[in-house]
Amino acid sequence: GPRQHRLSRPERPVAVTPPTPALPTQAELDRLVARSIAVIVDGQADSGAFVAAPTFPTYAFSWLRDGAFIADAVDRHGRHDIAARFHRWAATVVTDRADQVADLVARAGDEDPPTPEEHLRARYRLDGSDDDGFWENFQLDGYGTWLWALRQHHDRAGTDPADHLAAVDILVPYLAAYADVPSYDWWEEHLDHRHVSTLASIWAGLDAVAGWDGIPTDIRSAAAAAAAAIAARIATDGTVDGSLVKWLGSAAVDASLIACLTPFGLHPPDHPVARRTVARVEAELAPAGVHRYLDDSYYGGGQWVLLAGFLAWHHLRAGAPDRAEALLSWIHAQADDAGDLPEQVADGALHPAHLPEWEARWGPSARPLLWSHAMFLDVMAEREARR
Ligand code: BGC
Repeated sequence: GPRQHRLSRPERPVAVTPPTPALPTQAELDRLVARSIAVIVDGQADSGAFVAAPTFPTYAFSWLRDGAFIADAVDRHGRHDIAARFHRWAATVVTDRADQVADLVARAGDEDPPTPEEHLRARYRLDGSDDDGFWENFQLDGYGTWLWALRQHHDRAGTDPADHLAAVDILVPYLAAYADVPSYDWWEEHLDHRHVSTLASIWAGLDAVAGWDGIPTDIRSAAAAAAAAIAARIATDGTVDGSLVKWLGSAAVDASLIACLTPFGLHPPDHPVARRTVARVEAELAPAGVHRYLDDSYYGGGQWVLLAGFLAWHHLRAGAPDRAEALLSWIHAQADDAGDLPEQVADGALHPAHLPEWEARWGPSARPLLWSHAMFLDVMAEREARR
């Protein structure tokens, strides 16, 4: 069904400044790390797929985007075994659809191009099969992020690239062919636009393949050429007044843009575009936790734990540890007694009038959300690495 509402401005200003929660102790943080790994382990099916959220029926599927970040996060805590099982699952999802993708690549640029429904899915059943119901499926960022996470996993765990070569070989031409075509964004919305966070996710995956020893040079050079074209596109059409923007032609920011910088590294943290983008997200979207974007009305447009994680991680890399600690404290304060983190919290929601309709439709907002736990783990790993 329609998940979007056209809204012009928040019903409440964003500039609420709630008190920063007290800094949790190291023991409290360590407990949340242990709980986060447990939530992820419990949420991994025998197939290797991660459920997005075990108790929220709408999220009883495995998303490439969530899964890639979850695998990468446990990898950073030394749990290569968990990550490896996810990567095997994802590679099989792709290789099982080799013919479908070859057909999509052959038809790219046709007068009568494939419809969104003909593309690879954003999410699969935990056994890797397609879900029959409608979903906003045409989202390419998850495949780019997966290639990026796979390469990171390879570098950390020393896997044989040959194990994943078939999937890489299928995805590189697919992503190259469709990166510059409008698709649904990270939030499964706005099909009519080319989204900078999606472009950067694809760029990150192709750039990771381009630099991957052990992958045949023809695949690597195709990936490098496509990555360069995407970076140029973002520089010319996706950067406005020195800031990355939500989609090509927009002037707004979206908090997912943080990922272009951390972890993807499109620009280093001290680059003027990185500074300006983060300053805008901070000023416009980050009163305590982090909103997705100003018009967001999904569950009222609350503050997202996983976005606070991206922002805290970025601040650690950018040399702003105090701001990172404030975000980390906010994240920790959102855990319930069991230590479960939600997708979002409705405190300070941008459009609270829209919360009841979502609760009536799908129940209370998802908790635990594996991706929220993953981003907390990333912040903790980065913090540990900097000690
Ligand atoms: C979010 C997606 C996410 C999915 C599962 C959706 O509401 O917009 O980014 O992949 O939930 O967590």
